[in-house]
Amino acid sequence: MGGSNAVDPQGGPKRRTRRNVNQNLGCVYCWATDAETGQPCTSRSAEGSNLPYCERHRREGDGAIQVLDHPENHAVGKIVVANIDLPKGYKFVYWGKRCRWRGCKGEDRAMSFRPNGGVIDPTGCEGQQVQFMACPGPSERSNIKCTDVCFGKTYDTSLVGREIETSEPVKKNHQLLQWYGSKEWFESRGIPRTNVGTEAHPAPQRKKKLKSATEGGRKRKAKGQLKPEVGTSGQEHVKPEEDVMLQLTPKGLLVASDLLEVGGRPLEYSIHRLDRERRFAVSQAFPDLGSAEEVLAVPTFQCALGVDLNPEAGSPETLVQEEMNRLHMNIVMLESEVYSQLTARGFFCDSVDPLTGCSMHSRSGSRYSEVYSAHKLLGYQILEANGIRMIPLVVHPQFGTSGYPVTIFSTAPPDILHEVLQAATTQAAPSVGSGSNLRTDELR
Ligand SMILES: [Zn+2]
Repeated sequence: MGGSNAVDPQGGPKRRTRRNVNQNLGCVYCWATDAETGQPCTSRSAEGSNLPYCERHRREGDGAIQVLDHPENHAVGKIVVANIDLPKGYKFVYWGKRCRWRGCKGEDRAMSFRPNGGVIDPTGCEGQQVQFMACPGPSERSNIKCTDVCFGKTYDTSLVGREIETSEPVKKNHQLLQWYGSKEWFESRGIPRTNVGTEAHPAPQRKKKLKSATEGGRKRKAKGQLKPEVGTSGQEHVKPEEDVMLQLTPKGLLVASDLLEVGGRPLEYSIHRLDRERRFAVSQAFPDLGSAEEVLAVPTFQCALGVDLNPEAGSPETLVQEEMNRLHMNIVMLESEVYSQLTARGFFCDSVDPLTGCSMHSRSGSRYSEVYSAHKLLGYQILEANGIRMIPLVVHPQFGTSGYPVTIFSTAPPDILHEVLQAATTQAAPSVGSGSNLRTDELR
């Protein structure tokens, strides 16, 4: 394993294998493993192709893995299984035809390509096995991650690809799993998400990093997750540590939206009354807001597509940035519509711009923490990402760490606020949810 050289019969550069992974180094030679020998393919990559595969392996796929039908659950469809023990860092290419995201036929399997380069659609590419990787179920985790390496130019017309690799060793017969969206995103497409591991083809199990509170949070169903507060006085005097662990009941909840869509991204919002502590934090953040009036908070969450916003999750930084810009643009458009409607009716409305940390419209005061706010109002867990940037993240029950939170504040009464939000989100994009599920109990 590693470092072995072989003479190329055609002359030219010698074939070398990677240092720690038994796979050809560079792109001149095919990246596949020969199924018969279990060794790296000795052929060169197909001439004129962007992809580091020989003709045969592009057609037949990499012998290191195989595509099978899920043996028990037909709803899962196909799965991808290792034929040999794969080390961490074994590379594959997620390849296909380049196309625009909109109108992409295979959008459920499309993967983002270069910035502005559209997406990679593997539909109809038989030898592209990794498109059939299942998504980890609720108690499973992914063992594949994308890297920043792309094959082909931004507007390439031939087959293009993006490098993916095993993020941990994968044993023979075990499944390769890739997390490619939020749970709710799958549900809205009618694609079930269940655990996909079997005895013959195990899946890696989720590590219990976050304690019971998050598990409880994740278990809660999308539609029923936000229930208006009912007598939570018993939770008022918990110790600070327990406060983080146990506080799952949304506070002061008046309205919880159905799952909506804004600018192609899933969106959820809820309307809350504020307790004294939150009300004080809001008046500090927006000095132009009088302290007497009642203010309602509308935490909104969009779900990032294709990337995880947790810096430790390993999503390529450029793609994370690109997706953050998109999410920012979406919320700014929605917020400005809500702002103009509410201020036209004489109400205060403002939010904190997630890019600058300053108020979007009125004077800026002290910093308002969206993460802490989501924890206080919705009971969502805070994940202290211990990476270089030390950014605390909200763990949304469906969106995980791909949730993008921005809270809108207004002095408008709940019914008007709700009406304006509904109109603004409907205008932005039609709902992807199935019918209204808003809990307006307190508004009647
Ligand atoms: Zn080959």
